[in-house]
Amino acid sequence: MLTQTDKANDLANRFGNSATEGGEFAPGGIPVSEIAKEYGSPFYLYHADMISDRVRRVREALGTEVAYSLKANPNLAVCSLIAQAGAGGEVASSGELIVARAAGFAPEDIVFAGPAKTDEELRMSVDEGIHAVNVESLGEIERLAAIAEEAGKTIGVGIRINPTAQLMGSGMRMGGTVGQFGIDQADLAEAVEKVLSHESLVMRGVHVYTATQVFEVDPLLEHCRNIFDIALEAADHAGHALEMIDFGGGFGVPYFEKTSEFDLDRFGEGLKEIVSGYRSDSRLEGCRFLFELGRYLVADAGVYVTRVVDVKETRGKTFAVTDGGMNHHLTATGNMGQVFRKAYPILNLTRTDGAVPEEGVAVAGPCCTPLDSFGNNIPLAAPEVGDLIGVFYSGAYGYSASNLGFLSHPSPAEVLLHNGEALLLRAGGKPEDVLNGQKALTRS
Ligand SMILES: *Cc1c(COP(=O)(O)O)cnc(C)c1O
Repeated sequence: MLTQTDKANDLANRFGNSATEGGEFAPGGIPVSEIAKEYGSPFYLYHADMISDRVRRVREALGTEVAYSLKANPNLAVCSLIAQAGAGGEVASSGELIVARAAGFAPEDIVFAGPAKTDEELRMSVDEGIHAVNVESLGEIERLAAIAEEAGKTIGVGIRINPTAQLMGSGMRMGGTVGQFGIDQADLAEAVEKVLSHESLVMRGVHVYTATQVFEVDPLLEHCRNIFDIALEAADHAGHALEMIDFGGGFGVPYFEKTSEFDLDRFGEGLKEIVSGYRSDSRLEGCRFLFELGRYLVADAGVYVTRVVDVKETRGKTFAVTDGGMNHHLTATGNMGQVFRKAYPILNLTRTDGAVPEEGVAVAGPCCTPLDSFGNNIPLAAPEVGDLIGVFYSGAYGYSASNLGFLSHPSPAEVLLHNGEALLLRAGGKPEDVLNGQKALTRS
């Protein structure tokens, strides 16, 4: 089992690290300090080839279509790379739909899922002619039908099912969860009937997404088999073949110690076997099968880089205090719903070959709360003021999943390693940005 430091070194190598003589991280031969000098710190650094290669590898291993869940990382260039590598897009807001179109995803390769789709968002989906709106309630079917009718258009519908048998991260459980997502499996017939009753709606198929961070292959395969059965039931109710089964996804990323890679190849082999068993069923003739994946496509291809502003000792503990923290990278500080606060793989990028103190180092951000911590016991080469710290597995749920306004620090830059160059994708903010869009209260 790899330690967190082994993982960080492995990820650094996958970034094409050719460390400088001084031991500084130099992805693609570019010393990280040069990137920081040019664009400022902190910043997110993404690796273009890692993203493209991952998409291609997943498509090949699954033998199905892949839709990228933009909420993992809606950066425009990142999305473009994914579109160019042959994936579709899964969006959950009109903003993500706008990014998806700008990034080059074709409308027929876009699905829209998520609760609380507003009338404006449904109208935009109809206008863009996306493949399917994955509806989350019976009421949403009615609203979508009325909006499409008013526009004089038709729109594809996927029925998002909340299945009775749930995949709960580490196995199947009976007794579905209760939440804002999807239509209860018990209401499947009614939902299909509702879709068929509107001429403006085209019944595409079903969608099931109930779990994330899944590492166990067999329960996930069982889950897919169950989705096939739900789909066939839907086809029976519809009286025609389905055009789409959206299997969700949920492949895990091994952020933390004691987790290792999701076995994509074994899952792919199992899936292909299941698919071949259902392929000849006339109710699935010409059906598109798709997996929607977020973190699995991009997490490893990003590193968050932040600078050590202060190093202090307190009661025998060394603290490295950095210029960015939970305000830029909430998930890495364990503050986005994680049950356990564990450290991501982290390196002192300035001294990748430096001596590691026996006692782990605490790495804390600038946000004036003890919650702002990347970990309290990180085996980090002895930090000095000015060093750059790298938090790996930061390509997903980083920039856009953080409270960038908290403490009013400037936002981090986003940089892409692409064809041997470090390209600025989005400039970092400036202190005075805090006043943007605000109205001063004038004295009367
Ligand atoms: C968030 C989300 C995903 C992606 O989840 P990951 O864990 O990032 O793969 C896929 N589908 C839906 C409907 C989602 O809401």
